[in-house]
Amino acid sequence: MVDLQQENLKLKQTVKSLLARIEENQKIDRHFENFEFKLLGCHRLSDILQLLLEEARAHFELADVSLIIVDRDYSIRDLMEALDVDVYQNRLQLRHSDEFSRTLYPGEYRVVLGDLDALSASRLFPGLSDLGSAALLPLVRNDQLMASLHFASRSSERFSPAKAVDFMHHLASICAVCLENCLTHEHLQHQSRNDMLTQVSNRMNFDLEYPKELERSERCQEPLTCLFVDADHFKLINDEHGHHVGDVCLKEVAQAIKAQLRKTDLMARYGGEEFVVLLHSCDQDEAQVIAERIRVAVTKVSIAASQTRIRPTVSIGLASWQPVSERTADLAKLGQRLLKTADDAMYEAKDGGRNRVVTKVFCQLVN
Ligand code: GH3
Ligand code: MG
Ligand code: MG
Repeated sequence: MVDLQQENLKLKQTVKSLLARIEENQKIDRHFENFEFKLLGCHRLSDILQLLLEEARAHFELADVSLIIVDRDYSIRDLMEALDVDVYQNRLQLRHSDEFSRTLYPGEYRVVLGDLDALSASRLFPGLSDLGSAALLPLVRNDQLMASLHFASRSSERFSPAKAVDFMHHLASICAVCLENCLTHEHLQHQSRNDMLTQVSNRMNFDLEYPKELERSERCQEPLTCLFVDADHFKLINDEHGHHVGDVCLKEVAQAIKAQLRKTDLMARYGGEEFVVLLHSCDQDEAQVIAERIRVAVTKVSIAASQTRIRPTVSIGLASWQPVSERTADLAKLGQRLLKTADDAMYEAKDGGRNRVVTKVFCQLVN
């Protein structure tokens, strides 16, 4: 009878501890699930990086998080440069190949838990001292490693090798899909809004952004200057040296113009060898200085061609809008007039002999 009572008690305790384990696992499951829902809600690259490299730290109570993305064709580097993506104090790194992963994931790509030797720790978590343990999550798509996500804890128990990795494994799968989605989305968005040859905005992006710039100028009562920049005698360059050399020349001209601008200025390829530039918070006098700087910068471009060097020049038309205090009845119409005025000024620069800047006064009141 006593034996039976004792056995009963033992069984009760076992059931209780099992229930406690189930409850604990359910809690962890919900915690991971909450994070995975957030991941699934990310569309922009900046959003998913912020979630993985900042919010994950608090969500999972970690000492540090880092991420290495494999960038086989340097397209992610270019994308990140164009989008001005933060590298989170080097906790975000790009690698040209997955060579680095051989030491992290010997054999299969599976979640790794444990302590890291000092060397790997300093490479994966720059700036973090007294690391207790780490979890390494391989993010795999189509059997290829696309990234590696690393969680660090100061506790040596937290990610001890004996622990189960099911939750981490699930998280790694969701992460891989979501990161790939965000990268694809950004690539498509970038390609649809940028000119592939010159790597500046295309006409579509300009048409989408121009109304916003006009509204912003009016709201802030700040001047907005429009420049039309057209390469001189470009047909001759093509005719004499071929389209390929013409392409190289156009690329260099675009880069020379871009190098004179602030990051926030909008530059777009408006047509074949013609660019439009919007200088916000820039009045006519200031813009004339920048336009002259652009003109001179282009004259310094020098392209090697058969037995000669091509030295392109540009003609620039300039028109500035200084918003008046009352709201403009038709901002779109005003925008079109501003563009037309700058374009007319560009043609005057052509007529005047090319390789020059011409300013035409823009008057809002006609509107
Ligand atoms: P102007 O000084 O009057 O502007 O003379 P232009 O020869 O530059 O002007 P025109 O409009 O007669 O010719 C423009 C030339 O620019 C012809 C066209 O083939 C060339 N062009 C336009 N887009 C590209 C391009 O993407 N690559 C190359 N190589 N040439 C281009
Ligand atoms: Mg031209
Ligand atoms: Mg032209």
